[in-house]
Amino acid sequence: MTYNIVLGNPFKMKYRWQELCDETIKLFKPSVKKGNKIRVFSTMTNPGVLPTDAIVYVIPNQDFSLVARHFGMWDEARELGVTYPGRPSACEVYRDTEIEGEHMPPSMLAKVIWHEVGHNKAQMGIRAFHRQDGLRVDRLTRHDQLTKSNSSFMATYLVKDVPQWTGGFFE
Ligand SMILES: [Zn+2]
Repeated sequence: MTYNIVLGNPFKMKYRWQELCDETIKLFKPSVKKGNKIRVFSTMTNPGVLPTDAIVYVIPNQDFSLVARHFGMWDEARELGVTYPGRPSACEVYRDTEIEGEHMPPSMLAKVIWHEVGHNKAQMGIRAFHRQDGLRVDRLTRHDQLTKSNSSFMATYLVKDVPQWTGGFFE
């Protein structure tokens, strides 16, 4: 079985996409069970997905929020990303956020993607999902690192069926 993490790019933004895909794979790989595969790719159009996949929309900033517009939820904390953990589940992350004076580098954006996929696949809101553990913290910084318990948590939920919201694509 191949599990796809789809990085949706509906606004057709320029970014270091290949680097972002590579950084994201690194974070998910420890959670992929023997015999399974993980694939991460970016796309500007709806690729069609299975409930075993996950879509994360990568958008410029909160002003373009798809999750706020369609599900009435927004990230009040620090403008990194947000997830509506429903059925379908919808999540997005923001490219333009500045971290220590620098626009979001792929290595940091990949961590935010991991965090939002966690909310998405585990179907957990803030209270259930946030822990003082690795990438499950309230306020993610570039210094936070993936932990072993993060990876075993993700291994449990990555394989779950969660219908994904595909309404964020414009074509
Ligand atoms: Zn969170």
